[in-house]
Amino acid sequence: MQKGFNPFEMAQAQFDRVAEQVGLDAGVKEYLRWPQREFHFTIPVRTDDGSIRVFRGFRVQHSDVRGPCKGGIRFHPQETADTVRALATWMTWKTAVVDIPLGGGKGGVICDPHELSMREQEQICRGWVRQVWKNIGPVQDVPAPDVMTTGQHMLWMMDEYETLSGGKFPGVITGKPVGVGGSLGRTEATGYGVIYTVREALKRMGMDIRNTTMACQGFGNVSQYAADLFIKYGGKVVCVSCWDQSDMTSYTYRKMDGIDMAFLTSITDRYGTIDAAKAIEAGYEKLPGEAWIETEADILQPGALENQVNADNVGKIHERAKIIAEGANGPTTPEADEAIRKRGIFLIPDFLCNAGGVTCSYFEQVQNNMNYYWEKDEVLAKLDTKMTNAFHAVADLAERRNVYMRDAAYMIAIERVATAARLRGLV
Ligand code: GLU
Repeated sequence: MQKGFNPFEMAQAQFDRVAEQVGLDAGVKEYLRWPQREFHFTIPVRTDDGSIRVFRGFRVQHSDVRGPCKGGIRFHPQETADTVRALATWMTWKTAVVDIPLGGGKGGVICDPHELSMREQEQICRGWVRQVWKNIGPVQDVPAPDVMTTGQHMLWMMDEYETLSGGKFPGVITGKPVGVGGSLGRTEATGYGVIYTVREALKRMGMDIRNTTMACQGFGNVSQYAADLFIKYGGKVVCVSCWDQSDMTSYTYRKMDGIDMAFLTSITDRYGTIDAAKAIEAGYEKLPGEAWIETEADILQPGALENQVNADNVGKIHERAKIIAEGANGPTTPEADEAIRKRGIFLIPDFLCNAGGVTCSYFEQVQNNMNYYWEKDEVLAKLDTKMTNAFHAVADLAERRNVYMRDAAYMIAIERVATAARLRGLV
Protein backbone atom coordinates (compact mmCIF):
# COMPACT_ATOMS: atom_id res chain seq x y z
CA MET A 1 0.00 0.00 0.00
CA GLN A 2 1.35 3.35 -1.11
CA LYS A 3 2.82 5.62 1.53
CA GLY A 4 0.53 8.49 2.46
CA PHE A 5 -2.45 6.76 0.91
CA ASN A 6 -5.27 6.16 3.32
CA PRO A 7 -8.11 3.98 2.06
CA PHE A 8 -10.44 4.97 4.89
CA GLU A 9 -10.11 8.66 4.00
CA MET A 10 -10.83 7.63 0.42
CA ALA A 11 -13.96 5.70 1.48
CA GLN A 12 -15.14 8.71 3.48
CA ALA A 13 -14.41 11.09 0.60
CA GLN A 14 -16.47 8.96 -1.80
CA PHE A 15 -19.32 8.88 0.70
CA ASP A 16 -19.14 12.62 1.49
CA ARG A 17 -19.30 13.49 -2.20
CA VAL A 18 -22.58 11.65 -2.68
CA ALA A 19 -24.01 12.61 0.73
CA GLU A 20 -23.56 16.20 -0.47
CA GLN A 21 -25.19 15.54 -3.85
CA VAL A 22 -28.28 13.93 -2.31
CA GLY A 23 -28.49 16.49 0.51
CA LEU A 24 -28.18 13.89 3.26
CA ASP A 25 -29.04 15.26 6.70
CA ALA A 26 -25.85 16.32 8.52
CA GLY A 27 -26.51 14.07 11.54
CA VAL A 28 -27.23 11.00 9.41
CA LYS A 29 -24.10 11.72 7.41
CA GLU A 30 -21.96 11.93 10.52
CA TYR A 31 -23.47 8.67 11.80
CA LEU A 32 -22.79 6.75 8.58
CA ARG A 33 -19.25 7.94 7.93
CA TRP A 34 -17.80 6.16 11.00
CA PRO A 35 -17.76 2.52 12.06
CA GLN A 36 -20.18 1.70 14.87
CA ARG A 37 -17.68 -0.48 16.75
CA GLU A 38 -14.08 -1.65 16.50
CA PHE A 39 -12.03 -4.35 18.15
CA HIS A 40 -8.23 -4.20 18.12
CA PHE A 41 -6.33 -7.00 19.81
CA THR A 42 -3.20 -9.12 19.94
CA ILE A 43 -2.94 -12.79 19.04
CA PRO A 44 -0.01 -14.65 20.64
CA VAL A 45 1.07 -17.71 18.69
CA ARG A 46 3.64 -20.34 19.56
CA THR A 47 5.47 -20.79 16.26
CA ASP A 48 6.92 -24.01 14.88
CA ASP A 49 10.38 -23.16 16.25
CA GLY A 50 8.96 -22.87 19.77
CA SER A 51 9.12 -19.08 20.09
CA ILE A 52 6.15 -16.77 20.67
CA ARG A 53 5.08 -14.32 17.99
CA VAL A 54 2.42 -11.73 18.62
CA PHE A 55 0.16 -10.74 15.74
CA ARG A 56 -2.21 -7.78 15.63
CA GLY A 57 -5.84 -8.45 14.76
CA PHE A 58 -8.89 -6.31 14.00
CA ARG A 59 -12.61 -6.51 13.53
CA VAL A 60 -14.44 -3.38 12.50
CA GLN A 61 -18.26 -3.30 12.50
CA HIS A 62 -19.24 -0.40 10.34
CA SER A 63 -23.00 -0.81 10.33
CA ASP A 64 -25.61 -3.29 11.48
CA VAL A 65 -28.72 -1.24 10.81
CA ARG A 66 -29.83 -3.48 7.91
CA GLY A 67 -28.85 -6.76 9.57
CA PRO A 68 -25.85 -8.50 11.13
CA CYS A 69 -22.48 -7.07 10.05
CA LYS A 70 -20.96 -9.01 7.17
CA GLY A 71 -17.55 -9.09 5.58
CA GLY A 72 -14.31 -10.94 5.16
CA ILE A 73 -11.10 -11.31 7.12
CA ARG A 74 -7.84 -10.50 5.38
CA PHE A 75 -4.39 -11.76 6.23
CA HIS A 76 -1.94 -9.20 4.88
CA PRO A 77 1.44 -7.83 6.01
CA GLN A 78 0.37 -4.25 5.20
CA GLU A 79 -3.00 -4.42 6.96
CA THR A 80 -3.79 -1.39 9.14
CA ALA A 81 -6.74 -0.24 11.22
CA ASP A 82 -7.63 2.14 8.39
CA THR A 83 -7.60 -0.47 5.62
CA VAL A 84 -9.98 -2.58 7.72
CA ARG A 85 -12.18 0.49 8.43
CA ALA A 86 -12.37 1.28 4.73
CA LEU A 87 -13.20 -2.28 3.78
CA ALA A 88 -15.84 -2.53 6.52
CA THR A 89 -17.47 0.66 5.25
CA TRP A 90 -17.52 -0.61 1.65
CA MET A 91 -19.21 -3.81 2.90
CA THR A 92 -22.11 -1.74 4.24
CA TRP A 93 -22.65 -0.18 0.80
CA LYS A 94 -22.13 -3.56 -0.88
CA THR A 95 -24.81 -5.45 1.04
CA ALA A 96 -27.13 -2.48 0.61
CA VAL A 97 -26.67 -2.09 -3.16
CA VAL A 98 -27.52 -5.75 -3.80
CA ASP A 99 -30.27 -5.49 -1.18
CA ILE A 100 -29.43 -8.40 1.09
CA PRO A 101 -30.48 -8.08 4.76
CA LEU A 102 -26.98 -7.59 6.17
CA GLY A 103 -24.71 -4.78 7.30
CA GLY A 104 -20.98 -4.23 6.86
CA GLY A 105 -17.89 -5.34 8.72
CA LYS A 106 -14.34 -6.44 8.05
CA GLY A 107 -11.52 -8.12 9.88
CA GLY A 108 -7.82 -8.46 9.44
CA VAL A 109 -4.60 -9.77 10.86
CA ILE A 110 -1.22 -8.21 10.11
CA CYS A 111 0.68 -11.25 8.86
CA ASP A 112 2.05 -12.83 5.73
CA PRO A 113 0.66 -16.33 5.23
CA HIS A 114 3.46 -17.06 2.74
CA GLU A 115 5.90 -17.36 5.62
CA LEU A 116 3.62 -19.21 8.04
CA SER A 117 2.97 -22.92 8.27
CA MET A 118 -0.61 -24.17 8.19
CA ARG A 119 -0.36 -24.97 11.91
CA GLU A 120 0.70 -21.40 12.65
CA GLN A 121 -2.13 -20.06 10.50
CA GLU A 122 -4.58 -22.26 12.37
CA GLN A 123 -3.36 -20.76 15.66
CA ILE A 124 -3.93 -17.26 14.28
CA CYS A 125 -7.47 -18.20 13.21
CA ARG A 126 -8.34 -19.71 16.58
CA GLY A 127 -6.68 -16.83 18.44
CA TRP A 128 -8.65 -14.31 16.37
CA VAL A 129 -11.94 -15.99 17.31
CA ARG A 130 -11.01 -16.21 21.00
CA GLN A 131 -10.69 -12.42 21.02
CA VAL A 132 -14.00 -11.56 19.38
CA TRP A 133 -16.30 -14.55 19.74
CA LYS A 134 -18.68 -12.74 22.09
CA ASN A 135 -19.11 -9.97 19.55
CA ILE A 136 -19.56 -12.03 16.40
CA GLY A 137 -22.12 -14.73 15.58
CA PRO A 138 -24.96 -15.56 13.20
CA VAL A 139 -27.12 -12.71 14.51
CA GLN A 140 -24.37 -10.18 15.21
CA ASP A 141 -21.52 -10.27 12.74
CA VAL A 142 -20.61 -12.94 10.20
CA PRO A 143 -17.05 -13.10 8.81
CA ALA A 144 -15.95 -14.68 5.51
CA PRO A 145 -12.80 -15.18 3.42
CA ASP A 146 -10.93 -12.35 1.75
CA VAL A 147 -7.36 -11.71 0.60
CA MET A 148 -5.16 -14.69 1.60
CA THR A 149 -7.81 -16.49 3.66
CA THR A 150 -9.67 -19.59 2.46
CA GLY A 151 -12.38 -22.07 3.39
CA GLN A 152 -9.90 -23.88 5.59
CA HIS A 153 -9.33 -20.73 7.66
CA MET A 154 -13.10 -20.24 7.95
CA LEU A 155 -13.55 -23.77 9.20
CA TRP A 156 -10.93 -23.43 11.93
CA MET A 157 -12.68 -20.24 12.99
CA MET A 158 -16.10 -21.88 13.01
CA ASP A 159 -14.72 -24.79 15.00
CA GLU A 160 -13.21 -22.48 17.62
CA TYR A 161 -16.44 -20.51 17.87
CA GLU A 162 -18.51 -23.68 18.32
CA THR A 163 -16.09 -25.00 20.93
CA LEU A 164 -16.33 -21.79 22.94
CA SER A 165 -20.08 -21.35 22.62
CA GLY A 166 -21.03 -25.01 23.04
CA GLY A 167 -23.28 -25.56 20.04
CA LYS A 168 -23.38 -25.95 16.29
CA PHE A 169 -23.50 -22.57 14.57
CA PRO A 170 -22.58 -22.96 10.90
CA GLY A 171 -24.06 -19.51 10.25
CA VAL A 172 -21.29 -17.84 12.28
CA ILE A 173 -19.06 -17.64 9.24
CA THR A 174 -19.40 -18.12 5.48
CA GLY A 175 -17.11 -19.33 2.73
CA LYS A 176 -16.81 -22.69 4.50
CA PRO A 177 -15.80 -25.76 2.49
CA VAL A 178 -18.63 -27.65 0.80
CA GLY A 179 -19.74 -30.56 3.01
CA VAL A 180 -19.11 -28.67 6.27
CA GLY A 181 -21.71 -25.97 5.89
CA GLY A 182 -20.37 -24.34 2.74
CA SER A 183 -22.41 -23.52 -0.35
CA LEU A 184 -21.74 -24.79 -3.82
CA GLY A 185 -20.73 -21.88 -6.03
CA ARG A 186 -19.25 -19.77 -3.21
CA THR A 187 -15.69 -20.13 -4.52
CA GLU A 188 -16.68 -18.97 -7.99
CA ALA A 189 -19.19 -16.36 -6.79
CA THR A 190 -17.10 -13.18 -6.65
CA GLY A 191 -15.40 -13.69 -10.02
CA TYR A 192 -18.57 -14.89 -11.70
CA GLY A 193 -20.50 -11.96 -10.26
CA VAL A 194 -17.94 -9.58 -11.79
CA ILE A 195 -18.62 -11.11 -15.20
CA TYR A 196 -22.41 -11.04 -14.80
CA THR A 197 -22.11 -7.25 -14.43
CA VAL A 198 -19.65 -7.01 -17.34
CA ARG A 199 -22.03 -9.06 -19.52
CA GLU A 200 -24.89 -6.70 -18.69
CA ALA A 201 -22.75 -3.59 -19.26
CA LEU A 202 -21.75 -4.89 -22.71
CA LYS A 203 -25.43 -5.50 -23.54
CA ARG A 204 -26.24 -1.92 -22.66
CA MET A 205 -23.39 -0.77 -24.92
CA GLY A 206 -24.59 -2.97 -27.75
CA MET A 207 -21.37 -5.01 -27.79
CA ASP A 208 -21.06 -8.75 -28.33
CA ILE A 209 -19.00 -10.30 -25.52
CA ARG A 210 -17.50 -12.75 -28.04
CA ASN A 211 -15.71 -9.87 -29.79
CA THR A 212 -14.23 -8.42 -26.62
CA THR A 213 -11.02 -8.80 -24.67
CA MET A 214 -10.24 -8.37 -20.99
CA ALA A 215 -7.03 -7.59 -19.08
CA CYS A 216 -6.97 -8.78 -15.46
CA GLN A 217 -4.84 -7.69 -12.57
CA GLY A 218 -4.26 -10.44 -10.05
CA PHE A 219 -4.58 -14.19 -10.26
CA GLY A 220 -6.34 -14.99 -7.01
CA ASN A 221 -9.88 -16.10 -6.32
CA VAL A 222 -11.50 -13.10 -8.05
CA SER A 223 -9.46 -12.92 -11.25
CA GLN A 224 -9.26 -16.68 -11.78
CA TYR A 225 -13.03 -17.14 -11.78
CA ALA A 226 -13.71 -13.87 -13.61
CA ALA A 227 -11.35 -14.99 -16.38
CA ASP A 228 -12.89 -18.46 -16.38
CA LEU A 229 -16.46 -17.26 -16.94
CA PHE A 230 -15.46 -14.53 -19.39
CA ILE A 231 -13.76 -17.17 -21.56
CA LYS A 232 -16.79 -19.48 -21.21
CA TYR A 233 -18.91 -16.63 -22.58
CA GLY A 234 -16.62 -16.47 -25.62
CA GLY A 235 -14.45 -13.48 -24.68
CA LYS A 236 -10.65 -13.46 -24.71
CA VAL A 237 -8.54 -12.74 -21.63
CA VAL A 238 -5.29 -11.23 -22.84
CA CYS A 239 -3.35 -11.02 -19.57
CA VAL A 240 -3.29 -11.66 -15.85
CA SER A 241 -0.79 -10.42 -13.31
CA CYS A 242 0.45 -12.32 -10.31
CA TRP A 243 2.70 -12.07 -7.32
CA ASP A 244 6.03 -13.87 -7.52
CA GLN A 245 7.08 -15.09 -4.10
CA SER A 246 10.67 -15.81 -5.18
CA ASP A 247 11.58 -12.15 -5.76
CA MET A 248 8.62 -10.46 -4.04
CA THR A 249 7.49 -8.64 -7.19
CA SER A 250 4.47 -8.92 -9.43
CA TYR A 251 4.52 -9.75 -13.13
CA THR A 252 2.04 -9.59 -15.97
CA TYR A 253 1.69 -12.68 -18.16
CA ARG A 254 0.32 -11.70 -21.53
CA LYS A 255 -0.91 -13.58 -24.57
CA MET A 256 -2.77 -11.38 -27.01
CA ASP A 257 -4.53 -14.29 -28.71
CA GLY A 258 -5.99 -15.33 -25.35
CA ILE A 259 -4.68 -17.02 -22.23
CA ASP A 260 -5.50 -20.63 -21.40
CA MET A 261 -6.84 -20.74 -17.84
CA ALA A 262 -6.50 -24.48 -17.34
CA PHE A 263 -2.86 -24.29 -18.39
CA LEU A 264 -2.04 -21.24 -16.26
CA THR A 265 -3.66 -22.68 -13.13
CA SER A 266 -1.79 -25.94 -13.70
CA ILE A 267 1.54 -24.06 -13.46
CA THR A 268 0.53 -21.92 -10.45
CA ASP A 269 1.73 -22.89 -6.98
CA ARG A 270 -0.27 -22.67 -3.75
CA TYR A 271 0.87 -19.08 -3.21
CA GLY A 272 -0.54 -18.01 -6.56
CA THR A 273 2.87 -17.69 -8.25
CA ILE A 274 2.91 -18.68 -11.93
CA ASP A 275 5.94 -20.71 -13.10
CA ALA A 276 7.60 -18.13 -15.39
CA ALA A 277 9.78 -20.57 -17.36
CA LYS A 278 6.82 -22.77 -18.29
CA ALA A 279 4.68 -19.76 -19.20
CA ILE A 280 7.37 -18.29 -21.47
CA GLU A 281 7.89 -21.67 -23.11
CA ALA A 282 4.17 -21.75 -23.90
CA GLY A 283 4.34 -18.36 -25.63
CA TYR A 284 3.38 -15.97 -22.83
CA GLU A 285 5.18 -12.62 -22.51
CA LYS A 286 6.49 -11.99 -18.99
CA LEU A 287 6.16 -8.25 -18.37
CA PRO A 288 6.40 -5.92 -15.37
CA GLY A 289 3.51 -6.14 -12.89
CA GLU A 290 1.90 -2.91 -14.06
CA ALA A 291 1.78 -3.87 -17.75
CA TRP A 292 -1.80 -5.15 -17.40
CA ILE A 293 -3.11 -1.58 -17.23
CA GLU A 294 -1.59 -0.50 -20.53
CA THR A 295 -2.52 -3.69 -22.37
CA GLU A 296 -4.90 -3.22 -25.29
CA ALA A 297 -8.27 -4.56 -24.10
CA ASP A 298 -11.94 -3.57 -24.03
CA ILE A 299 -12.31 -4.40 -20.36
CA LEU A 300 -9.90 -3.83 -17.49
CA GLN A 301 -10.49 -5.90 -14.39
CA PRO A 302 -8.39 -4.82 -11.39
CA GLY A 303 -8.93 -7.88 -9.19
CA ALA A 304 -6.17 -7.59 -6.59
CA LEU A 305 -5.81 -4.91 -3.91
CA GLU A 306 -6.69 -1.27 -3.27
CA ASN A 307 -4.87 1.70 -4.83
CA GLN A 308 -3.88 -0.09 -8.05
CA VAL A 309 -5.35 2.40 -10.50
CA ASN A 310 -3.88 5.70 -9.39
CA ALA A 311 -2.62 9.11 -10.52
CA ASP A 312 0.66 7.57 -11.71
CA ASN A 313 -0.78 4.96 -14.06
CA VAL A 314 -4.31 6.04 -15.00
CA GLY A 315 -2.93 7.93 -18.01
CA LYS A 316 -1.46 4.69 -19.35
CA ILE A 317 -4.84 3.03 -19.86
CA HIS A 318 -5.08 1.98 -23.51
CA GLU A 319 -7.47 3.98 -25.70
CA ARG A 320 -9.40 0.81 -26.49
CA ALA A 321 -10.59 0.45 -22.86
CA LYS A 322 -14.34 0.86 -22.56
CA ILE A 323 -15.16 -0.76 -19.22
CA ILE A 324 -13.39 -0.94 -15.87
CA ALA A 325 -14.84 -3.73 -13.75
CA GLU A 326 -13.54 -3.38 -10.19
CA GLY A 327 -13.17 -6.95 -8.93
CA ALA A 328 -11.03 -5.76 -5.99
CA ASN A 329 -12.19 -3.53 -3.17
CA GLY A 330 -11.05 0.07 -3.54
CA PRO A 331 -8.70 -0.40 -6.52
CA THR A 332 -9.15 3.15 -7.84
CA THR A 333 -7.91 6.27 -6.05
CA PRO A 334 -9.98 9.49 -6.20
CA GLU A 335 -7.58 11.16 -8.71
CA ALA A 336 -7.77 8.17 -11.02
CA ASP A 337 -11.55 8.09 -10.57
CA GLU A 338 -11.73 11.68 -11.80
CA ALA A 339 -9.64 10.84 -14.86
CA ILE A 340 -11.79 7.78 -15.68
CA ARG A 341 -14.95 9.83 -15.33
CA LYS A 342 -13.56 12.52 -17.67
CA ARG A 343 -12.51 9.95 -20.27
CA GLY A 344 -15.99 8.47 -20.20
CA ILE A 345 -14.86 4.91 -19.50
CA PHE A 346 -17.81 2.95 -18.11
CA LEU A 347 -16.99 2.05 -14.52
CA ILE A 348 -18.58 -0.83 -12.62
CA PRO A 349 -17.76 0.22 -9.06
CA ASP A 350 -16.25 -2.25 -6.63
CA PHE A 351 -19.05 -2.63 -4.14
CA LEU A 352 -21.46 -3.44 -6.97
CA CYS A 353 -19.07 -5.34 -9.25
CA ASN A 354 -17.64 -7.69 -6.62
CA ALA A 355 -20.82 -8.15 -4.57
CA GLY A 356 -21.23 -11.71 -5.85
CA GLY A 357 -19.12 -13.09 -3.02
CA VAL A 358 -21.17 -11.65 -0.21
CA THR A 359 -24.42 -12.39 -2.04
CA CYS A 360 -23.44 -16.05 -2.19
CA SER A 361 -22.40 -15.85 1.47
CA TYR A 362 -25.93 -14.73 2.21
CA PHE A 363 -27.25 -17.77 0.30
CA GLU A 364 -24.88 -19.91 2.35
CA GLN A 365 -26.39 -18.51 5.56
CA VAL A 366 -29.90 -19.15 4.26
CA GLN A 367 -28.95 -22.78 3.52
CA ASN A 368 -27.34 -23.10 6.97
CA ASN A 369 -30.51 -21.81 8.61
CA MET A 370 -32.70 -24.26 6.67
CA ASN A 371 -30.12 -27.02 6.98
CA TYR A 372 -30.95 -27.81 3.37
CA TYR A 373 -28.46 -27.34 0.53
CA TRP A 374 -29.12 -26.26 -3.04
CA GLU A 375 -27.66 -27.55 -6.28
CA LYS A 376 -24.90 -25.42 -7.79
CA ASP A 377 -27.05 -24.32 -10.74
CA GLU A 378 -29.67 -23.05 -8.36
CA VAL A 379 -27.13 -21.03 -6.38
CA LEU A 380 -25.58 -19.51 -9.51
CA ALA A 381 -28.97 -18.73 -11.07
CA LYS A 382 -30.04 -16.86 -7.92
CA LEU A 383 -26.69 -15.07 -7.86
CA ASP A 384 -27.05 -14.02 -11.49
CA THR A 385 -30.52 -12.60 -10.86
CA LYS A 386 -29.36 -10.58 -7.84
CA MET A 387 -26.30 -9.19 -9.60
CA THR A 388 -28.13 -8.42 -12.84
CA ASN A 389 -30.95 -6.60 -11.06
CA ALA A 390 -28.58 -4.60 -8.88
CA PHE A 391 -26.44 -3.69 -11.89
CA HIS A 392 -29.37 -2.38 -13.95
CA ALA A 393 -30.83 -0.46 -11.01
CA VAL A 394 -27.51 1.40 -10.68
CA ALA A 395 -26.99 1.85 -14.44
CA ASP A 396 -30.58 3.13 -14.87
CA LEU A 397 -30.09 5.67 -12.09
CA ALA A 398 -26.72 6.75 -13.52
CA GLU A 399 -28.39 7.32 -16.87
CA ARG A 400 -31.49 9.02 -15.52
CA ARG A 401 -29.58 11.45 -13.31
CA ASN A 402 -26.56 11.66 -15.57
CA VAL A 403 -24.16 10.75 -12.76
CA TYR A 404 -21.04 8.59 -12.55
CA MET A 405 -21.70 4.88 -11.92
CA ARG A 406 -19.89 4.94 -8.57
CA ASP A 407 -22.02 7.85 -7.41
CA ALA A 408 -25.23 6.14 -8.55
CA ALA A 409 -24.30 2.99 -6.61
CA TYR A 410 -23.63 5.12 -3.51
CA MET A 411 -26.99 6.89 -3.94
CA ILE A 412 -28.90 3.63 -3.84
CA ALA A 413 -26.85 2.18 -0.98
CA ILE A 414 -26.89 5.31 1.18
CA GLU A 415 -30.62 5.72 0.73
CA ARG A 416 -31.24 2.14 1.93
CA VAL A 417 -28.93 2.35 4.93
CA ALA A 418 -30.10 5.84 5.94
CA THR A 419 -33.74 4.75 5.69
CA ALA A 420 -33.11 1.73 7.95
CA ALA A 421 -31.29 3.91 10.50
CA ARG A 422 -34.10 6.45 10.44
CA LEU A 423 -36.87 3.85 10.74
CA ARG A 424 -35.11 2.32 13.73
CA GLY A 425 -35.10 5.75 15.30
CA LEU A 426 -31.32 5.87 15.55
CA VAL A 427 -30.93 9.13 13.67
N1 GLU B 1 -14.56 -10.67 1.27
C1 GLU B 1 -15.61 -10.60 0.31
C2 GLU B 1 -15.94 -9.16 -0.02
O1 GLU B 1 -15.13 -8.28 0.11
C3 GLU B 1 -16.82 -11.42 0.73
C4 GLU B 1 -17.43 -11.02 2.03
C5 GLU B 1 -18.48 -11.98 2.54
O2 GLU B 1 -18.76 -12.95 1.88
O3 GLU B 1 -18.99 -11.70 3.61
O4 GLU B 1 -17.00 -8.85 -0.47
